[in-house]
Amino acid sequence: MSKPIFAANWKMHLGPDAAREFLRTFLESYPPAGDREVWFFPAAVALETVARALADRSDIRVGAQNVHWEPKGAFTGELAVSMARAAGAQAALVGHSERRHVFGETDEETGRKVRALLEGGLIPMLCVGEKIEEREARATLKVVQRQLAVLDGLDSGVLERIPIAYEPVWAIGTGKTATPDDAAEVHAAIRAWLGERGADAAAVRVLYGGSVKPDNVAALIAEPQIDGVLVGGASLNPVAWSEMARVALD
Ligand code: PEP
Repeated sequence: MSKPIFAANWKMHLGPDAAREFLRTFLESYPPAGDREVWFFPAAVALETVARALADRSDIRVGAQNVHWEPKGAFTGELAVSMARAAGAQAALVGHSERRHVFGETDEETGRKVRALLEGGLIPMLCVGEKIEEREARATLKVVQRQLAVLDGLDSGVLERIPIAYEPVWAIGTGKTATPDDAAEVHAAIRAWLGERGADAAAVRVLYGGSVKPDNVAALIAEPQIDGVLVGGASLNPVAWSEMARVALD
């Protein structure tokens, strides 16, 4: 069985000093765990600080929030995969709803990023999810399958190493959460899609994200289809985040 992932997306919060301070508090109450992984996605400027602070914790990974697909060049403000890796990143988020809907990233660009990360030796965590109007039009599975299609053509063994985060856009930062049953339905469809492409779908970690908080994390993680959570707002408090990441697993 793959270990569940508790992933913290810090978005545009916590620079190097604040990240160091966060980890000092977090680590006081988060001893090494063999049955789960914690992944941190800090701002690019704090990657190195976070990676250094966690260097002796094999149960905790560090990732970039975004990368560019080109290895170098005139791309002001962007981060190359090799740069993220040199700063200590082992992974990166790809296709987060804020990248798609605030910065207008397309599926094609998302696919390029996935390939650049794989070529550069980092693990992409692919985020997918529908907008409220797409849910109301009963287009959720169609949208998610379209977003997954950026993985078409990858070997089944590679597919199995890519965690997928299902994050309904209407649930991110809004306080609205999909029910465990709603999420399970989409997670099952994601696994079916991967299974049709030869992957051992049970081996793929499919996370849920969208207003996960200390008071709903236990119910979500208890759902067998949910192999972890991707958390924004509630991951910014080291005490709350440690509590969430230590939630009981059955
Ligand atoms: C996210 O940023 O991926 C996220 C799920 O945010 P929040 O937990 O704040 O909804």
